[in-house]
Amino acid sequence: MPCLPTVPAVAVQFTILGSGSGGNCAYLETDQTRILIDAGFSARQIRLRLAAIQRSPETLQGILITHEHTDHVQGLAVLCAKLQIPLYCNRLTKEALAYQLQGRFDCRLFVTGADFEVGDLAVETFSVPHDAQDPVGFLIRTPAGNVGFLTDLGHATKLVIERVKPAQVLLLEANHDLKLLQEDTKRPWSVKQRILSRHGHLSNDAAAAAAEQIVSGHLRQLYLGHLSRDCNRPELAHRAVAGRLRQVGACHVRVETTSQDAASPTLAL
Ligand SMILES: [Zn+2]
Ligand SMILES: [Zn+2]
Repeated sequence: MPCLPTVPAVAVQFTILGSGSGGNCAYLETDQTRILIDAGFSARQIRLRLAAIQRSPETLQGILITHEHTDHVQGLAVLCAKLQIPLYCNRLTKEALAYQLQGRFDCRLFVTGADFEVGDLAVETFSVPHDAQDPVGFLIRTPAGNVGFLTDLGHATKLVIERVKPAQVLLLEANHDLKLLQEDTKRPWSVKQRILSRHGHLSNDAAAAAAEQIVSGHLRQLYLGHLSRDCNRPELAHRAVAGRLRQVGACHVRVETTSQDAASPTLAL
């Protein structure tokens, strides 16, 4: 009998609807569950990008929030006011959102470091060093594999490296090219210092070093996210990270940059 390829029992699809300093939002779907991770575009833009993959916000069972910065929560107020979608966040993020967006949200609180479930998804949370109230990363265990979110972090701690290691698919921040950031004339020195600090954002080189530590035999897809429009170029981020992975013999990982202007192609896990 011919050997048939194994088909996962449950179809799991993952789409980065957009990622960059100006907005971050991703969509994850299993047979039973549909969620967003962050909602950093306008509600209209999120609806349009979901419509492009034949989905709509009406069927969402929840929105996972990494932290309260505008580029992660911009669309929340409008989306949630109309649709009452539950938000999954920690207490400090909830308080920051209530103050910032002047809205009442149906929050399902988690304690940073703890796990929780949304439908058939098991979500693991962990603290990341970034200048927000209580920012987190996620490892989402789906019936077909694990998806990691590691964005907006000043530096890659031992903890975050360990927590995302089980990922088959990972979104990793590659925010800026050091030289482009230093040469940038739009940003005052204080802003550059913030970005470069241990609670700011990962440079391409720092992302490459993190990727080298995270990479495993089962990591197959690495998305580079949160690219700065002014202080990075997709080819620079890709070269830094893919080049480093090649050097350490990790040629099985597909490295792809993301854009804040358009969704990435949907990935079937
Ligand atoms: Zn942030
Ligand atoms: Zn951000």
